Amino acid sequence: MYRAPRGTSDILPQEQPYWRYVEQKAASICQLYGYERIDTPTFEEAQLFSRSVGEETDIVEKEMYTFKDKGGSELSLSPEGTAPVCRAYVEHGMHNLQQPVKLYYIATTFRYERPQAGRYRQHHQFGYEAIGDDDPALDAEVIDLAWQFFKSCGLVGLTIKLNSIGCKKCRPGYLATLKKYYSGYVSTLCSDCRIRLKRNPLRLLDCKNPSCQKITSSAPRSIELLCPECDGHLRQLKQYLGLLDLPFVENHRLVRGLDYYTRTVFEVQPEEGGAQSALGGGGRYDDLISKLGGKPTPAVGFAAGMERIILNLKKQKVPIPTLPKPQVFIAYLGEEAKDEAIKLASKLRREGIAVLEALGTRSLKAQLRQANNLAVKYALIIGEDEVKSGKVILRDMITSEQKTVSPSELERLLR
Ligand code: AMP
Repeated sequence: MYRAPRGTSDILPQEQPYWRYVEQKAASICQLYGYERIDTPTFEEAQLFSRSVGEETDIVEKEMYTFKDKGGSELSLSPEGTAPVCRAYVEHGMHNLQQPVKLYYIATTFRYERPQAGRYRQHHQFGYEAIGDDDPALDAEVIDLAWQFFKSCGLVGLTIKLNSIGCKKCRPGYLATLKKYYSGYVSTLCSDCRIRLKRNPLRLLDCKNPSCQKITSSAPRSIELLCPECDGHLRQLKQYLGLLDLPFVENHRLVRGLDYYTRTVFEVQPEEGGAQSALGGGGRYDDLISKLGGKPTPAVGFAAGMERIILNLKKQKVPIPTLPKPQVFIAYLGEEAKDEAIKLASKLRREGIAVLEALGTRSLKAQLRQANNLAVKYALIIGEDEVKSGKVILRDMITSEQKTVSPSELERLLR
């Protein structure tokens, strides 16, 4: 028997109301803030991600689904959404548009990870990017949008974690300080962190290993070594977040797992935190567009995992509206009546009324049982008499009341 590949899942009809609900909340909030939808391909040139996300990140080193197609091009299934959007921005000359360009997406995302609750090999992200302005007010807007989005979904008890990791001017100095600090603890660090110390020292800060965390608690903090511009940006951002009444906590350990971030990084976390719990994260990436061949263009964005949002909606028992289903079932008695039933079903559907119809040669009783199981409100019954008169029996499935009606009356009643 075949099964869905490890770390992937089917989204069955009973799950669909959650997905439609979250997608609709995402679309409405984006409309409120002036973001337009963009869809990029499921796969891109592999290099797009190694250049942007970073050669020495977990995503690029261990998690990408990369393959050669029949023409020999090296492609990767998208492991994240920001790089493709930036590629599209550059490719389509969007710097000629009014800046910032504000785009959002809901995309399937692929990472070869060890599957566990809230972590899959195929997941979906709702993300948005504001490209073309370095005003900290735009960072504040991006954070506000994330907050209002989760709120509109009905989620409570969330926190915003905030940090600044500086820019290409001040980060090298910070990294040197960080390396010097951790070099004093090499023997205590976990094996991963010893590699990070050489290759990606920023990631030392978010190691989950308790002994590394102990060392990190007194590690030098990036915000203490920001250049005056980055420092000013952070101060201004915090002031705007205050104006917006957004409850953020500064966290010097927050660095995020992708290399393109500059200055602002943030995450939204549900109450019971933990390694795999972030609902979403984002930040500023002022050097990415130029790295991908565009003009130097500052930008800021955010992405949230759809599956994690839905997990939290279920945990918090948020009521989700059901999706509409047909409320009418057509039953018949005999071959001639079946012909009429087929015609009637088609006519009602063309008029915009959703109907289900019986099939086969089951008894009327069995057909009505089926209607009952489907929990429709009405059954339409066509028997020999109705074939002759051109009318149908309308049965209220709740009260069992029946009456014979003409086609025009039927449509009016069903509406
Ligand atoms: P990232 O692109 O790593 O910043 O991830 C953004 C958000 O996507 C995270 O906060 C999660 O909600 C979600 N996410 C990331 N990786 C996975 C995964 N493997 N499975 C499910 N959700 C994920």
